Amino acid sequence: MSAAEHDAAQRAAAMVTIVGAGPVGTLLALLLTADGHRVRLLERRADPRTSAPERGRSINLALAARGLAALARAGVLERLQPELVAMRGRQLHDRNGQGLLLPYGQRPDELIYAVDRARLNRVLIEAAVNVPLIELRFGWRATDVDADSGRVSWKDASGLDFTDEGADLVIAADGAGSALRHALQQRGLLRATEDALAHDYKELHIPAPADGGWPLEPQALHIWPRGEFMLIALPNPDRSFTATLFLPAQGRDSFATLVDPAAARAFFAREFADALALVPDFDAQFAAHPQGQLGTLYCWPWHVRRVLLIGDAAHAIVPFHGQGLNCGFEDCVLLAELLARERGLQAACARFEHLRRPNTDAIAAMAIENYREMRDTVLAPDFATRKQLSLELERRFPGRFIPRYSMVMFHADIPYAEAQRRGALQEGVLDALLAAGAGADWPLAARLLAEASL
Ligand SMILES: Cc1cc2nc3c(=O)[nH]c(=O)nc-3n(C[C@H](O)[C@H](O)[C@H](O)COP(=O)(O)OP(=O)(O)OC[C@H]3O[C@@H](n4cnc5c(N)ncnc54)[C@H](O)[C@@H]3O)c2cc1C
Repeated sequence: MSAAEHDAAQRAAAMVTIVGAGPVGTLLALLLTADGHRVRLLERRADPRTSAPERGRSINLALAARGLAALARAGVLERLQPELVAMRGRQLHDRNGQGLLLPYGQRPDELIYAVDRARLNRVLIEAAVNVPLIELRFGWRATDVDADSGRVSWKDASGLDFTDEGADLVIAADGAGSALRHALQQRGLLRATEDALAHDYKELHIPAPADGGWPLEPQALHIWPRGEFMLIALPNPDRSFTATLFLPAQGRDSFATLVDPAAARAFFAREFADALALVPDFDAQFAAHPQGQLGTLYCWPWHVRRVLLIGDAAHAIVPFHGQGLNCGFEDCVLLAELLARERGLQAACARFEHLRRPNTDAIAAMAIENYREMRDTVLAPDFATRKQLSLELERRFPGRFIPRYSMVMFHADIPYAEAQRRGALQEGVLDALLAAGAGADWPLAARLLAEASL
């Protein structure tokens, strides 16, 4: 057998265990089986097709070009289309309830899409159950892994402990609190740290009005920026919205001071009066809904012998660029490509980590920066001017100047690290143009772009 035939045989024969049938684990299972791998996909929760969704993380989330491209590649985008609500910009709300819509991009297809997390997961699971190469089980919780043999220890729904027969590759797609990552960390096989954000979040449901309309402009992501904190709201296909309050955990205006629904109501009446008016059962919701924590996870390495961490298990980030899942989906596409073209599973995993880490580090940093932009910088007097100038530069210098937000959200072909690098250079160009009082001086703009090698 030639080396090429041997490699091809090894790839075709790969048996892969994926821990966690969340969006990343399930999408990866679809991509790997399309290439002929056999996948054992196990999930600790009950089957979402027959049980109510478990809440805890966000109820809906935003998908952009990277996530959509991955879903299309796995053949599920069409099935998801009816669940998507297009958002074409940020609708800002001041304390008087006045709104300003800032478009995200300038081409008709430069939109982001809100989707219900549980519906998205369900569409992926429904696709996976029809694939003979995927063995899908629910109610199985991974507790440990042996990185040498690829054997995973499980607790099944009845509480029985069990160790499986092993796999060529074990993918930990078990989310930010990954049990497999903890198991490897406890054995000293990897290091992981979490930078907790000092701000927590709480979600509130804005119901659809009885008159058949929408409670807020439907084609927008709504933001109530207030400097140190903010409220946002994303549309749902049923004309309701999911609002999320991001607020410091401690301090003067903080979750610690909102000790009861009455205090929370007074705070909302002061800061977000127009939103408060849209939540008739505010007190009950505020008391009942959990207060979630946020943070950025850094983990080294992701690849330990037969185990590879992916998605949030490897690099959970704060949600302010709406990219955590988009990034996890992009992981899946790259990994599937590498498994198809690299010589052997170990080489593919090592290459995956090498190629992917600069990009996940970049989006982690940009997501934190975007929090400041959403809650604070948008209030600055020159914010709208900068955004408009950026879009005008993109029109006049196509391909050479693409606003960083657009690179991240609409250009799946531009890696995150490249978007971050070019974005920093572009900021310098914008600063210089605005400082020269020459927002419309295009020859100067051309010179500055050339000097920045853009
Ligand atoms: C408030 C908030 C808003 C967000 N908004 C956005 C957004 O707008 N856009 C975006 O792209 N991203 C967003 N994200 C990030 C996004 O939710 C995550 O990046 C994404 O869910 C990660 O997917 P995952 O499959 O890696 O992990 P998860 O979604 O956490 O799935 C992990 C799966 O593994 C299972 N599991 C866990 N432990 C075990 C175990 N021991 N054994 C077996 N199974 C196990 C879980 O039950 C789950 O099904 C947001 C996150 C938050 C918190």
